[in-house]
Amino acid sequence: MVANTVLQAVYEQVVGRNPGEAEFHQAVKEVLDCLGPVLEKHPEYVEAGILERLVEPERQIIFRVPWQDDRGEFRVNRGFRIEFNSALGPYKGGIRFHPTVYLGIIKFLGFEQVLKNSLTGLMMGGGKGGADFDPKGKSDAEVMRFCQSFMTELFRHIGPDTDVPAGDIGVGEREIGFMFGQYKRIRNEFTGAFTGKGLEWGGLLVRTEATGYGLVYIIDEALRDKGKTVDDLEGMTVSISGAGNVAIYATEKVQQLGGKVVTLSDSNGFIYDPAGVKLDTVKQIKEVERKRIKEYVATHKNAQYTEGCNDIWNVKCDIALPCATQNELDEAAAQTLVKNGCIAVGEGANMPCTPEAVRVFHENNVLFLPGKAANAGGVAVSGLEMAQNSQRVSWTFEKADAELKKIMVTIYQNASQAAEEYGYPGNFVAGANIAGFIKVANAMLAQGLV
Ligand code: NDP
Repeated sequence: MVANTVLQAVYEQVVGRNPGEAEFHQAVKEVLDCLGPVLEKHPEYVEAGILERLVEPERQIIFRVPWQDDRGEFRVNRGFRIEFNSALGPYKGGIRFHPTVYLGIIKFLGFEQVLKNSLTGLMMGGGKGGADFDPKGKSDAEVMRFCQSFMTELFRHIGPDTDVPAGDIGVGEREIGFMFGQYKRIRNEFTGAFTGKGLEWGGLLVRTEATGYGLVYIIDEALRDKGKTVDDLEGMTVSISGAGNVAIYATEKVQQLGGKVVTLSDSNGFIYDPAGVKLDTVKQIKEVERKRIKEYVATHKNAQYTEGCNDIWNVKCDIALPCATQNELDEAAAQTLVKNGCIAVGEGANMPCTPEAVRVFHENNVLFLPGKAANAGGVAVSGLEMAQNSQRVSWTFEKADAELKKIMVTIYQNASQAAEEYGYPGNFVAGANIAGFIKVANAMLAQGLV
C-alpha cells in the first residue's frame, strides 16, 4: 500500500520533471510497476530515497556538434551523453547516431542500461549517448569529420575509469574507430575508453557478434527450461526485424543452431525468404555496400520484399526476435504472432515491444524475454573488453564466446529466481527489473547520499 503510493509519486515526479520524454516515462513506468513487493520487503530503500535518486541521472551533458559536409557547407547537430548511475562502476553504454535522437531517447536508453549492466554481474554503471546525426547517405569523410567534432567535446567527460561508450544504432566499427582515434589524439593516451574497437587495436573477439549471439543463447536456455526437447533450435522458424549488428548476428547464431530465419528488415521495408535468408548476401549489402535490404531480392528470386515494416510480424514463426528499434512491435502485431502460434519472443532491440504487446504475450503464455536481459550480451562482452584492455592481453574467440554463454545463462537464472521470489513466476520483465534493481539499490545504500 505504502509502496504503491511511493511508486506513483516517483512516476509523477519523473513525468513532471521530464516533460515530453515519452520513451523515458515508458521505461521508468515498466520498472516501477514491478517494484511494489520489493519495497514492501525492503523499506530501507524508501527511507533512503533510492527510487527518487535512481530516476534522476547523475549528469546530463548536451552539446553542439559543428561539422562541414563535402560541399563545404557548415552543419550543426546536437550531441548527448547521459551519465545515469555509477553505483556499480564506470558509466557504460553505447552511442546512437539517428535523426530521431533527442534527450528522452537517450535517457530511456541510459535508464535501461543501469539495470541491464547490473544484471550482467560485471562492475559497470549505466550511461548512454548519441546525436541526431544520420550517417546514412554520408561519405566516409563526412562521418569522420562528424565523429571527430563529437569527440572533441565528449573526450573531457569519458575515460576508462569514468565513462566507457560503445556502439548502438548508426555507430559501428567505422564510427568507433573515428571517435577513438580523436580521443587518443586529444588525450595522448591509448586506453580502453571505448569498447567495440577493431580487433587489431584492442577489440575483443566476439564483441561484434555478442548481442545477437547472446540473444539466441538466452532464448535457447529459456526454451530448454520450459521443456523444449529438441537440441538447440533445430526445425524452428524465426522471424527477425532489423538488418544491423544485432539482427545479423542473431541470424547467424539461429542458423548455427539449426533454425531458419525467414525475415529481416530496415527502416524502409522487410524481406521474406521462405527458404531461409542467406546471410552472406545480407552482410555484403549491409556491412560492405551499406545499401538497403530490398537489394536482397535482386539475387534471391524466391524472396519477397514489402515496403514498410508494419506487416513483418504477420509472417508465421515459432520465435520472433525484434532487433531494430523501440516500440516497433505493437498490440495488434503481438495478437497476430499469438494467433500464428509463436511460442517465444526475445527483445534484441531496446524496448521494441510496446507495453500492450508485452501484456498480450504474458496473457497468452508466450515466453517473453525483455531487452534488459535478452540483449545484455553486448554490454557483458564490453565488460570483458575493458578487462582485456586493462590487462593488455587478447582473449581467444572460444574463451570470450564461452564466457558470453555463461553470462547469458546466469542472467536468465537470476531473472527467473527474482521473478519467483517476488511473486511473478514466469514473468521475466519483473524478474530482470527486480534482480537488476536490488544490486544497484544495495550499492547506493552502502555509498551514502551521493
Ligand atoms: P544498427 O544501426 O546496426 O541497425 C539497426 C537496424 O534497425 C537497421 O537495420 C535499421 O534500419 C533498423 N532501424 C533503426 N531505426 C529504425 C526505425 N525507426 N524503424 C525501422 N527500422 C529501424 O543498430 P544495432 O543493431 O546495433 O541496434 C539495434 C537495436 O539493438 C537498438 O535498439 C539498440 O539499442 C539495441 N542494442 C544494440 C546493442 C549492440 O551491441 N549493438 C546492444 C544492446 C542493444 P536503417 O538502416 O534503415 O536505419
